[in-house]
Amino acid sequence: QAEALMRAEQLAAVGRISAQVAHEVRNPLSSIGLNVELMQDAFERATFESPVDAREARELLAAVTREVDRLTEVTEQYLRMARPPRPSLEPTDVTDVLASVLDFSREELERAHVEVVRELSPDTPRALADEGQLRQVFLNLLRNAREAMPDGGRLTIATRVHDHELEVALQDTGRGMSEAERSRIFEPFFTTKEDGTGLGLAVCQQILKAHGGALSCQSEPGRGTTFSVRLPRA
Ligand code: ADP
Ligand code: MG
Repeated sequence: QAEALMRAEQLAAVGRISAQVAHEVRNPLSSIGLNVELMQDAFERATFESPVDAREARELLAAVTREVDRLTEVTEQYLRMARPPRPSLEPTDVTDVLASVLDFSREELERAHVEVVRELSPDTPRALADEGQLRQVFLNLLRNAREAMPDGGRLTIATRVHDHELEVALQDTGRGMSEAERSRIFEPFFTTKEDGTGLGLAVCQQILKAHGGALSCQSEPGRGTTFSVRLPRA
């Protein structure tokens, strides 16, 4: 009976997620359809004397490109979450990965007036991780932190060494979250952002679980948020 109940819950979850995917895909698709139709109208109206206005055509095409990009992002993230590739675990220097991700994001963080403070303990032992997937986790967390600090702020990145695990804590001075919000952030498609996908943290959590690690979050409204990444030591 417990099994039947679990099965029913799984089916309900699949139904909910399918509905959300359909919703995520329908909006950009209808916008693409509309813009293409407008473009067709413009071409049908055009004559030799009054050709298609290049600027108008460019704007319509840009709108289509934007929506296609969004569809690509949503489907890619969704697929990553639905069937994440098994991580190929290797002894990995997490501070190196952090340094490279921070370097990659430096301009973006500077532009957003986010000051980065590194509290990386020296001689941090290596973790057992898939470097590519780990980069993705840090990139997602960095991006969320930046988006939580629209007027700038401070991001402190600290590593701690435990008996069997490595911990990386990313603490921002952003807007923080209410308890109600915090309890939902790992749900696929949960977002409070106008243009968010709500898949970033769901993907991060999946990845870390597949590593035998974990992702947790503490937050205080108006003060900031800390995400803790835990990975097994090599
Ligand atoms: P998205 O960024 O597309 O909204 P995520 O899964 O990355 O999706 O995040 C889900 C939600 O969690 C965000 O919309 C936001 O409400 C909340 N969140 C995530 N990171 C932070 C953070 N550092 N500070 C405050 N809220 C956050
Ligand atoms: Mg995100």
